Amino acid sequence: MAARAQGWEADPVTGPMTGAFTLIPPALACGFGELGKHGSLINPELGSNFRLAAVLTDASFALTPPRAHWVDDFCIDCRICEDACPAEAILPEKQTVRGDHKWYVDFDRCLPFFNETHGCAICIAVCPWSRPGVGETLAAKLLRRQQRLAAG
Ligand code: SF4
Ligand code: SF4
Repeated sequence: MAARAQGWEADPVTGPMTGAFTLIPPALACGFGELGKHGSLINPELGSNFRLAAVLTDASFALTPPRAHWVDDFCIDCRICEDACPAEAILPEKQTVRGDHKWYVDFDRCLPFFNETHGCAICIAVCPWSRPGVGETLAAKLLRRQQRLAAG
């Protein structure tokens, strides 16, 4: 049953502009996906082409941990978004940002082009994870590779 119907507070946070809320950090923390080189979330089932939304609630529920589905391994060997970005905003190597070592998009380069084109998103359009139905197949392949490596 919905949280609100049970008497809990429940406010939706949706749409392209989520105001004071940045949705990627909590989505990473709850295991919804991993950060791709293009700075967007990659989910093993949905791939890379989806929009995040959230519900702010005081309802109690079990927390879910971060998940690894080896997107990193894939992004290290892939340069598709990096090469396709007209603003050259996607850095080829991870950077340390406020103590986190992670993929990094230079928003000083991205934003002017993004605004000029009313929402560029070329990096998401070209990402292999964005093709419909590909996410699950890729995630399964990466899992098999990890299992082979772990078995020696
Ligand atoms: S939105 Fe466009 S300009 Fe910004 S990083 Fe992606 S491809 Fe580059
Ligand atoms: S295009 Fe390639 S490098 Fe960029 S996010 Fe997608 S998988 Fe990673």
